[in-house]
Amino acid sequence: MKKGLHPEFKESTITCACGTVINTHSTKGDLRVEICSNCHPFYTGKQKLVDTGGRVDRFKKRFNMDK
Ligand SMILES: [Zn+2]
Repeated sequence: MKKGLHPEFKESTITCACGTVINTHSTKGDLRVEICSNCHPFYTGKQKLVDTGGRVDRFKKRFNMDK
């Protein structure tokens, strides 16, 4: 990106609490977030952070996916 062409838009990194660093472009520079697309169940579709009670196993049994 040529300097001066988009002076308000610069390379930046978004650092998540989980350790994921996302390289992006932002007008605000570097950002820190507590949750990102890499660790948020809503985005991953996996109950990664909250699956402490065998929810996945129950889900599989419910739909006969464990056979
Ligand atoms: Zn994250």
